[in-house]
Amino acid sequence: AVDLVKNFGDASSWLSRAPVVQAVSGVSLQVRRGETFAIVGESGCGKSTLARALMRLLAPTSGKVLFDGNDISDTRGADLRKLRKDMQFIFQDPFSSLNPRMSVGKLVGEPLEVHAPELSAQQRRDRVADLLRRVGLRAEYAGRYPHEFSGGQRQRIGIARALASGPKLIIGDEPVSALDVSVQAQVINLLGDLSRDMGLTLVIIAHDLAVIRHMSDRVAVMYLGQIVESGPTAQVYDSPRHPYTQALLASIPVMGSTPGRDKTTVLGEMPSPAAPPQGCRFHTRCPHAQAICKTDRPALEGDTSDGHQVACHFWDSLASAAPLPNPQPK
Ligand code: SF4
Ligand code: MG
Repeated sequence: AVDLVKNFGDASSWLSRAPVVQAVSGVSLQVRRGETFAIVGESGCGKSTLARALMRLLAPTSGKVLFDGNDISDTRGADLRKLRKDMQFIFQDPFSSLNPRMSVGKLVGEPLEVHAPELSAQQRRDRVADLLRRVGLRAEYAGRYPHEFSGGQRQRIGIARALASGPKLIIGDEPVSALDVSVQAQVINLLGDLSRDMGLTLVIIAHDLAVIRHMSDRVAVMYLGQIVESGPTAQVYDSPRHPYTQALLASIPVMGSTPGRDKTTVLGEMPSPAAPPQGCRFHTRCPHAQAICKTDRPALEGDTSDGHQVACHFWDSLASAAPLPNPQPK
């Protein structure tokens, strides 16, 4: 994604009194083939909007989305349907995303009908059985319906359905946050196995860093529509440079102890995305804010070759001065 912007609310119409909300404001990021890339931030930070814009479930207001080197920002119609074969989405709530009147076999087989119409009915059934086994379900489940399954099993069905078209990229919007804690790790491990075994590229959206720590190669931390820090996950974890990332890490309880609920940090409420603060958008909550933070937007920059970048005027001095909020044993 290059300098991506997504606004909601129509500023050009006099009928519209709704404020224009810039949910995603100038985000650039590059996801590498085969990696697992996590996008983390509090609810309302624009991460879901970003994910949908990357998938072209939403058209960006400005900026570009490139996929395999092709600009897909304006792709529509039949070309967009073709693109769906390569890019699939996994939703947060596997129940509401699965049609309750369709059997599991039909749910997983439907994308095959669209993207692999050359398959015979028997070949399709075999493929569905394969896909179910691949996600850790029994092939016999094909005849059952979504309500007969637990949340974790339903998410596995959603994943099998996403895999059916043979995608290169899967984007998951909080794929485990609606699940019981005990099940979260299983689904995360499944996604990790699939990405390794099938060479899939994964983009995982999460609201806390704990969920993605062991599964993602790189992470971008979002705040009010902008990326404030990005880099290799271990780096960002072990030496967070942005005060917001430091606060997020400090607020991590035991993994998923409050499933489905965003954790408000010690720093208080996030300002409305409809009226983001000038300068550094984090200045209203930042314990280190100075005068310049209220006027100048800090650029995303870094000094290392590993790609660890941060958008803070003072990250250099803070990184050396601030004690780590949540030291991890080495
Ligand atoms: Fe805090 Fe200023 Fe850095 Fe923003 S730029 S994170 S307000 S110190
Ligand atoms: Mg969301």
